[in-house]
Amino acid sequence: MSDLREIYQEVIFDHYRAPRNCRALAGASHKAEGYNPLCGDKVVVYLQIDDGVIRDASFEGVGCAISTAAASLMTEALKGKRVGDVQILFESFHDMVTGAPGVPQALGKLEVLAGVREFPSRVKCATLAWHTVLAALKDQREPVSTE
Ligand code: ZN
Repeated sequence: MSDLREIYQEVIFDHYRAPRNCRALAGASHKAEGYNPLCGDKVVVYLQIDDGVIRDASFEGVGCAISTAAASLMTEALKGKRVGDVQILFESFHDMVTGAPGVPQALGKLEVLAGVREFPSRVKCATLAWHTVLAALKDQREPVSTE
């Protein structure tokens, strides 16, 4: 189990040091800003949606290791997903990081963030990018705050 934990930490730090899809997306169809005042994390999420499918996803931001790694992993997870599936994916992810009881959904690479459940103050770091994506899908203009 501790080996698994080390691998998870390695993946998180890898995504923090070299975030995937960390750039503005030219011609994004959806965009939103998010802010987590608890930690100071800021993120802008960009989506390119075509025919109800997320063709591309990217982000820019400044934040802690967890928020950056979570945004990086999220953009990878969203590519190719149907817009209608994002809410369910978010809810499963949220259940995982908050340690909600019940049968955990298979979340693939996102499962490296499962350890966040032991640090309740970091849940907002891990979910900031997700809240921001949901706002982008609703065409929300006001920046999202986790508070
Ligand atoms: Zn944070």
